[in-house]
Amino acid sequence: MSNETMNADGLTPEIICRNLDTVKENINKACIRTGRDPKEVTICAVSKLKPIEDIRIAMSSGQHLFGENYVQELVSKYEILADSAEWHMIGHLQKNKVKYIIDKVSLIHSVDSVSLAAQIDKEAGKKDKIMDVLLEVNIAGEESKWGFTADETLDAVKEISSLSNIRVRGLMTSAPYTEDAETNRIHFRNLKSLFDKMKKADIPGVEADILSMGMTGDYIVAVEEGATMVRVGTGIFGERDYTK
Ligand SMILES: *Cc1c(COP(=O)(O)O)cnc(C)c1O
Repeated sequence: MSNETMNADGLTPEIICRNLDTVKENINKACIRTGRDPKEVTICAVSKLKPIEDIRIAMSSGQHLFGENYVQELVSKYEILADSAEWHMIGHLQKNKVKYIIDKVSLIHSVDSVSLAAQIDKEAGKKDKIMDVLLEVNIAGEESKWGFTADETLDAVKEISSLSNIRVRGLMTSAPYTEDAETNRIHFRNLKSLFDKMKKADIPGVEADILSMGMTGDYIVAVEEGATMVRVGTGIFGERDYTK
């Protein structure tokens, strides 16, 4: 590998583009296997802890949507690329930081409390904006995870959808870490069934069309189980360096 083609993290533009193609290909196959239209599935490329150059490379091969976890990082990347890319907030969000991202992101995946939703509503109101959100569900009931329990979710959707500057678009989950994606199939199936229940409830102000589930290790299974959005980081940009 020449230094010219290698960026700070070691993946060449060719590899990032090839990775993106592989993810698309895997999604297409999973859709075909399960009788779904591949157009129903959107890739949110998770660029956290990755340099702006990697994002530019992905953009040059047609990727438009990026997910970030940390407010400061999102803001500094936004300052460079602005609306030439579309940004989603996918990580845990503190109430006092909502104001920094409210006018920069098109979707917040990680609404995990009614009080956070109320804060988003307030800040969106100040910008005269309707903020699209997903409710994060701790579908496997893990001790360490953010999110509503499956039992709390429908009531929370009702409460949050009554806020005037928020539009609930669906649900999101991060399934347990596993070496074997098949063990998460049940969790994806459970979230899909909660999503269908939410749709059927026909709650005013809810436009349930986004089911965000599946990461590098398990997105194929998630698509087979009905994901409409997958959040893939490592599978596109390579391993992250958390020591930086
Ligand atoms: C980091 C992260 C991802 C991407 O994880 P990969 O395993 O690298 O694909 C997806 N969703 C959330 C919420 C994340 O924090």
